[in-house]
Amino acid sequence: MSDIKVTLPDGSTKVLKDGATVYDLAASIGAGLAKAAIAGKVNGVLVDLTAPLYDGAKVEIVTEKSPEALEIIRHSTSHLMAQAVQSLFPKAKVTIGPAIENGFYYDFDVDTPFSPEDLNKIEAKMAELAKTGFRIERQILSKADAIRLFTDLGESYKVEIIEDLDVDSISVYRQGDFLDLCRGPHLPSTAWCKAFKLTSIAGAYWRGDETRKMLQRIYGTAFADKKELDAYLERLEEAKRRDHRKLGRELDLFSFSDEVGAGFAIWHPKGAMLRTILEDFERKEHVKRGYDIVVGPQILKTELWQRSGHYDNYRENMYFTEVDEQSFGVKPMNCLSHMMIYKSQLRSYRDLPLRFFELGTVHRHERAGVLHGLLRVRCFTQDDAHILCTPDQLDSEIKGVISFVSDVMKIFGFEYEMELSTRPEKSIGSDEDWERATNALLGALKDTGRPFDINEGDGAFYGPKIDIKLRDCLDRKWQCATIQCDFTLPERFDLTFVDANGERKRPVMVHRVILGSIERFIGVLIEHYAGNFPSWLSPVQAMVLTVTDNQLSYAQKVFDELRGAGVRVQRDFRNEKLSYKVREAQLQKIPYMLVIGDKEMESGTVTPRYRDGHNLEAMQPADFIAFIEEEVKNFR
Ligand SMILES: [Zn+2]
Ligand SMILES: [Zn+2]
Repeated sequence: MSDIKVTLPDGSTKVLKDGATVYDLAASIGAGLAKAAIAGKVNGVLVDLTAPLYDGAKVEIVTEKSPEALEIIRHSTSHLMAQAVQSLFPKAKVTIGPAIENGFYYDFDVDTPFSPEDLNKIEAKMAELAKTGFRIERQILSKADAIRLFTDLGESYKVEIIEDLDVDSISVYRQGDFLDLCRGPHLPSTAWCKAFKLTSIAGAYWRGDETRKMLQRIYGTAFADKKELDAYLERLEEAKRRDHRKLGRELDLFSFSDEVGAGFAIWHPKGAMLRTILEDFERKEHVKRGYDIVVGPQILKTELWQRSGHYDNYRENMYFTEVDEQSFGVKPMNCLSHMMIYKSQLRSYRDLPLRFFELGTVHRHERAGVLHGLLRVRCFTQDDAHILCTPDQLDSEIKGVISFVSDVMKIFGFEYEMELSTRPEKSIGSDEDWERATNALLGALKDTGRPFDINEGDGAFYGPKIDIKLRDCLDRKWQCATIQCDFTLPERFDLTFVDANGERKRPVMVHRVILGSIERFIGVLIEHYAGNFPSWLSPVQAMVLTVTDNQLSYAQKVFDELRGAGVRVQRDFRNEKLSYKVREAQLQKIPYMLVIGDKEMESGTVTPRYRDGHNLEAMQPADFIAFIEEEVKNFR
């Protein structure tokens, strides 16, 4: 038998006996590595520890610490769950059980839906099976044998999957008496499933097909160790505590109503104030950066949507109505009015760039199933702008937008990541257009000095784009800003400008949003701050409270003075116990409480108390006003 030579990630080589496996390689490097190894990566492909190596292969040993480990652990835990389910519910048929972001699921065909108690039982059974430490073994079968095997087991879904596969042989994985069709790789034994938790049950159609049977899906999560699992579960709990739908109700910001219709938010006074603060902030920041505020109508003639291409490409997401026998489309985007403004006069290169900004309310049809609080609605307001510029101005315009995004993210305390999506196979526009726009986006990204990702071929057919995803304090990613170059609309609407030589040229069009949807952004903000908005954003910045009726007239004077100066203030002069009134204000997460007692009344002062319980020095009401103004000015 001849030897084989393999290369390790550090470039060194190892000579092994022919037929040696990934495990043998790990063992030849060291006993510690052999013990820690859970899988291998051969020429970039993940394989089982028992996979044989071949001459010339580039091999990496995967341990629990490797970035690839989590997916293997989660997928193996989904098999463990299926094994537990079948041992407890022998009639349950198995379907598929992939690893997903944050965990895994497995879909089962069972007669009775699983109950929460079932989940506990299944989890306990999983722990027992893990402890037994079944070896997880791969076996290769011919397609025909595999079909026979799963037919005998009564696993009709597996048979259906195999029949659809265009292959001759099929791999199955066995642990104890449980068998599953699978490509792998898997952990070497169930003993490696050390930290898992089943999280929820849901109905799911087989292959997403609503005409097929509804299956029972069990979601779970798994990690390499208990500590990581606990940290994750703690984050989940924290996310539940911060859920914007729950806080939105408790803080009386907004509501949804069946009588109104799904996906349409109703803004209560405090929520509407929060929106107004954000919108005022946006207007100011845009005007500062050379944008012109514009306003377009809510519905536009259907012919215009036909011309823009929305009718052909986006009709399913649009709402239509009729006025005087004329069909109108409710706008899903704000671009069209902005182009009509551009076209309202002859434009010279000296007029450019033009930056039209609109807090544009749009309607987009979303399936009822995907609606989710403020994060996914059917009516929302975008902080939308369209920049029309000469091709030469594109570079500096894109840079301007990116620095705008960076300034705004800093104010809210968000980290963010940027991605560039380039030309897809099917696209319109000249090579030159694409190159110029892509380079403008790329140059601006490089200029930031921050890392960014490139999604090759992922741009829209009408132009490349940058997507910016913010990270909240629970490390969740949210799409907010996008910067999109567009070659179609200027063409379709025949937008032109007169250049220095008196010739008509096409301007470049950039669609961009900074916060994206105001609704969505507020949902994210509520969860990010857990409802504890900084003063500048708080719908109510201060609450004036009386200790007894004795201070009524002074308290009213303080309230009037603050409100007159523009502080967002409320009062609680009820004849209730002070501790009760303080607690209510705290639950409302109001930043400052001004308790007015005899001491304050006599000295003509207020003693602000921050919502975390610490007191500021006693001060004149005018000084408190100045203090709040300073906080607002500095976005605190
Ligand atoms: Zn599998
Ligand atoms: Zn647009």
